[in-house]
This record gives sequence, C-alpha cells and structure tokens, in this order.
Amino acid sequence: MQVNVDQDRCCGSGQCVMTVPSVFDQSEDDGLVLLRPGGAERAARADLELAAGLCPTGAITVHTDRGPGDADGADPAGA
Ligand code: SF4
Repeated sequence: MQVNVDQDRCCGSGQCVMTVPSVFDQSEDDGLVLLRPGGAERAARADLELAAGLCPTGAITVHTDRGPGDADGADPAGA
C-alpha cells in the first residue's frame, strides 16, 4: 500500500494519527501531517482507508500496488 498526504490541505486535526499511529505523525512545529518511513507498507489497507475517510480535509490518498484489472488484490497467477 502507498499513501500520499497533502500538507496544503491538512488542518492538523490529528484524526489520522489517532487512527493509525504507526503510519501517520504530526509535525511538532506546525501540527501538519507527516508519514512515518515504511509505515504505510506494513499497514492494513482497511486501516489506511479508514484514516483517509476520517480525514476532514481529504488530505490523505491511498493507492494500491496492484496492477490494473486485479480488483481484489489476488495474485492473477494464483501463486
Ligand atoms: S486527519 Fe487529515 S487534516 Fe487531520 S492531521 Fe491527518 S491529514 Fe491532517
């Protein structure tokens, strides 16, 4: 999983940090969202999508690593 955050949209509410603290952090300077290195790769998709859905400003975008047409995330080779 990959996550992008847009600090220009972030209002520093901290919902993402409370929801998935292993992925999201907040700057001590201005309270804006930060990503913890490697956190998104280890996180569950459902948790990331929950955080994105709870963000009041739509600053979080979740991307899958899957290829096109692989809607359920299954390995098309069946491995
Ligand atoms: S939930 Fe959204 S607005 Fe709040 S800190 Fe996280 S990214 Fe920023």
